[in-house]
Amino acid sequence: MVRSKVLLMTLVAVMLVAATFVLAEPQQAPAAGQQPAAGGGANQAPPAIREIKPGFYVVTGIGGNTSVRVTNDGVAIVDTKNLGEQNYNALMAQIRSVTQQPVRYAFITHVHQDHSGNTASFKAAGTQVIAHEGLAENLKTYTSAAGKPDVPSITYARDHVVRLGNVAVEAHHYAAGHTGGDTIVYFPDVKIVAMGDEMVWPQAPNSDYPNGGSMMGWVRSLNEVQKLDFDTVIPGHGNPMTRDQFLQFKTKLEVFVDRSITVARRNVPRAQMFYDIVQTDLGGWNITMPDTRLASFYNEMRTEAQRLRALPDGQ
Ligand SMILES: [Zn+2]
Repeated sequence: MVRSKVLLMTLVAVMLVAATFVLAEPQQAPAAGQQPAAGGGANQAPPAIREIKPGFYVVTGIGGNTSVRVTNDGVAIVDTKNLGEQNYNALMAQIRSVTQQPVRYAFITHVHQDHSGNTASFKAAGTQVIAHEGLAENLKTYTSAAGKPDVPSITYARDHVVRLGNVAVEAHHYAAGHTGGDTIVYFPDVKIVAMGDEMVWPQAPNSDYPNGGSMMGWVRSLNEVQKLDFDTVIPGHGNPMTRDQFLQFKTKLEVFVDRSITVARRNVPRAQMFYDIVQTDLGGWNITMPDTRLASFYNEMRTEAQRLRALPDGQ
């Protein structure tokens, strides 16, 4: 009985992998988070710039999305693409196609090199590079096939706001999610939030536990993002999203985490965990984890299950 159930679940899993592949194919590239051990960087599509709203652009290709906020008092960007001088030059050529203003600030959403790759080149050009202190911590051990990204110019603990004339740009770290050094960048005047790999669309979430990621923290972070007044999300990879799509992703993540905690409460062995977490109704999600992450994920869910068990009934 148990054996046939495992076989059935395996079959379902295989079918889901196939379905996910078909779904993912039209995307320009797999999300970097799918290969985070190598630091991402699978996206080698040529760069292109696209206006999202007046004064706000996204450069796609050669790594994660780069958001570009252009004002008469300079430019602020989010993320710097795959590590390499050629990639830096290609990104700058796209930015220069829409403005000659200096890039005064570059925010880095997390340590993976397809987002943090060209910190050194921006610093050398006089840009202040800003990241969460968790990213600096990650950099003590993080490296990638493309090399090791440079440390940011400055780090912050919770919030950091810069101004380009009258335009504010806000960096927030609400909780560990995709990594322990995640930054959310909010542009209040244009109601846009750039989320790095805390949002990949339409792929499943991918928490890099060895770099401090946390599924529990991810849910808390999205709860805080939801409080911001925005109508557009720039994900780490993929097309800009609506607020409604953000909410769909958040709901699915909450369902996934709730089910994971429920499975953990049943004391299932670690190796059985992903057979027991139902994902068939989560729009193509088929989350699994290598051993390097599974132990941390399992412990996190077990800890939460124990915390809930200690509460009075009905909590
Ligand atoms: Zn990433």
